[in-house]
Amino acid sequence: AVPLVVAVSTSLAAQNGFLIRNRTAFEEARNLGAIIFDKTGTLTHGEFGVTDVLTFNGFDDKEQLLSLAGSLEQNSEHPIARGIVKATDGLMKVEEFNSITGKGIEGRVDGKQIKVVSPGYLREHNIDHPTEQYEQLSGQGKTVVFVIINDQLQGAIALGDSIRDDSREAIQSLHDMGIQCIMLTGDNRQTAAYVANELGLDDFFAEVLPEEKAAKIKEVQQRGLKVAMTGDGVNDAPALAQADVGIAIGAGSDVAVETGDIILTQSNPKDVASLIALAKATYKKMV
Ligand code: ADP
Ligand code: MG
Repeated sequence: AVPLVVAVSTSLAAQNGFLIRNRTAFEEARNLGAIIFDKTGTLTHGEFGVTDVLTFNGFDDKEQLLSLAGSLEQNSEHPIARGIVKATDGLMKVEEFNSITGKGIEGRVDGKQIKVVSPGYLREHNIDHPTEQYEQLSGQGKTVVFVIINDQLQGAIALGDSIRDDSREAIQSLHDMGIQCIMLTGDNRQTAAYVANELGLDDFFAEVLPEEKAAKIKEVQQRGLKVAMTGDGVNDAPALAQADVGIAIGAGSDVAVETGDIILTQSNPKDVASLIALAKATYKKMV
């Protein structure tokens, strides 16, 4: 039988914007030492808008650069893709589309081989890029992706996302409970550092590939902390499973929701703080 206080908490939980799928994990939530948040769509709104288009290496048609990149991005579900498609007129047909997991996408558009990729991809393939504007844009917290046309680096697209006010409040409450707040993202280091600094986070991991996320959770557990992970994507499932408490965003992918111990039905990071407070209150009464 379920103790009465726990049953009451379960219905309180639903009213407060979360669903408990795993009661043991909920009980663990009162002992958490760190919460790891996915950046895009959790701490930020996850709604990107194009802010700057740069061209280089002899290419100077910004409209064409956007149109080639935007056409390719029609095939991607990434928030970056939605931002670029919104900014593009004249979408063209794409052939041989392929996604480069955690790094970008590629395909043929208008007879050209196009890639839209992360700064990390360029580094890995020893492709030089103009650094001054890049550093300025990423230092402002913008996400920058590069456009390669027929193996020539021809431009970059900067996109802005915004930090949710709810994230600031969530971090404040978690800090008040003595819990460390850490961010995990596939985005580049400078962009991540900007967000981490704005929110006053205790630590962050940037340029993390999807298959590396679970290992980062383990790394924090090895610091001797009970860890919760909050994420929404298909790629977040192994990290949610590795965490002592896996918290899935209700509006996220089915895979994340099925893996999560607790689901945030309102997709609000503040509900992480409420669920910990409720776990502490519930199990204190039981001792
Ligand atoms: P996150 O969920 O933190 O954004 P991802 O692993 O989904 O991490 O993406 C990591 C990086 O890979 C992005 O910041 C971007 O540089 C690049 N990337 C991923 N998908 C795309 C895409 N559709 N178009 C361009 N770049 C992409
Ligand atoms: Mg993601």
